[in-house]
Amino acid sequence: MKIKKMLSCLILTVIFQNSLIIKTYASEYQVIKSDIKQLKFKTFNAPNPPPTHKNNTVEWLYNSLNQNLSPFSEEDTINVIKKSMQSWSDVSGINFIYKGITDNNINDSTDGIITIGFWSSNAYISQHGDNGAFTAIEWNNFNITEGHMILNAGDASDSNSTPSNLLELQGLITHEVGHLLAIAHSDNQESIMFADPYHSYEYQSILRSDDIQIASQLYPVNSNDLLTTVKSNLDIVIQSATFHSANKTSNIWAILEFIGTDSNGNFFWKLKNYGQNSSNTTDSLTTVRPNLDIVILSATFQSSENPSNIWAILEFDKIDSNGDYIWQLKDYGQN
Ligand SMILES: [Zn+2]
Repeated sequence: MKIKKMLSCLILTVIFQNSLIIKTYASEYQVIKSDIKQLKFKTFNAPNPPPTHKNNTVEWLYNSLNQNLSPFSEEDTINVIKKSMQSWSDVSGINFIYKGITDNNINDSTDGIITIGFWSSNAYISQHGDNGAFTAIEWNNFNITEGHMILNAGDASDSNSTPSNLLELQGLITHEVGHLLAIAHSDNQESIMFADPYHSYEYQSILRSDDIQIASQLYPVNSNDLLTTVKSNLDIVIQSATFHSANKTSNIWAILEFIGTDSNGNFFWKLKNYGQNSSNTTDSLTTVRPNLDIVILSATFQSSENPSNIWAILEFDKIDSNGDYIWQLKDYGQN
C-alpha cells in the first residue's frame, strides 16, 4: 500500500513538473479578495463553465487525527457531514460517497483525495472568512480533482466562531460543502452562502432557493442518477446501466428478482428481464462489467422506512440449471 501511494505521488509530481495539466487553486481567500460583484450566487473564480465534480460524484474521506481537540465524537461528526451533504444531494444531481477513514494529511492539496477533518485549536481561524472552517478545491480541465475541508477544533479568536452543538456543526459544514462544490459566497442575503455578514450556523443548516439554484445548475439532476432502484422486497430495477461487453459498450435496462439467501446468509438475485436502451448514455452510475459483475454506485433503496441512497456490488455467480443468470451480493453500503 505504501509503495502504491508513493508511486501515485510520484506520477502526480511528474505530471505537475511537466505542466501537462493546468492546476488551479481556489480558496476562500481568493474569493473574498475578488472585487467582482454579482447579484446572487457565485462560483469560484474560474472560467466559464466553472469546475465541477466529474460524474456528479464526490468521494471523500475523514481524518480523525484531531478529533479529541473537538467537542464532538467521530461518529457524530461523520453523520453530520453526511447529513449536510445529503441536503445538497436532495436538491441537485450531486452524489457523495464516503470512502472511510484516512491518515493522509487533512490539508494535503496534492494527494488527489478529498479529506475532511478537525485541525488544531487555532489554525486558519483568523486568516479567512469562514471562522469555523476552511475549504479549498483544486481542478484541472474543469474537473475538481482534489480538496479538503478543515474544521477548527477550538475558538482561538474568542468570537464563538466554532460550533457548540451538532446543529451548528451541521450548518457550518453545509456552508463548507457548498465551497467543496465550487460555490463561492453569494451576494443574495437569502442564501446560506451569504457572508456579509454571515448568517448563524442554524440558518446555514437549511438551503435556500439561491443555493438550490446554483447547486442544480452546476450538478443537474441526471436522470441516470436515480434510475437504479432497490425495492422494499429487494428486487432491483436498473433503468440505465452501462454494459461493457467484450467488444462494445452499450446502455441497457434490467430487472433482477431477489430469490433469497443461502445457509451462509448470502443474498442472491436472478435476471428477470433485460433489454437495450435507445439512449447511448455510457456514463451511468450502474455498470455491468464484461464478466457480468454489476457495480451500482448510486441506487435509491426504498426500505419500509425512509428511502436512502446506497451503493452495491453484485458478483455474477452462475447460470443455474434452469438457465437463469444468478448474482450474489458481494458488498454494499450507504452513500
Ligand atoms: Zn464561506
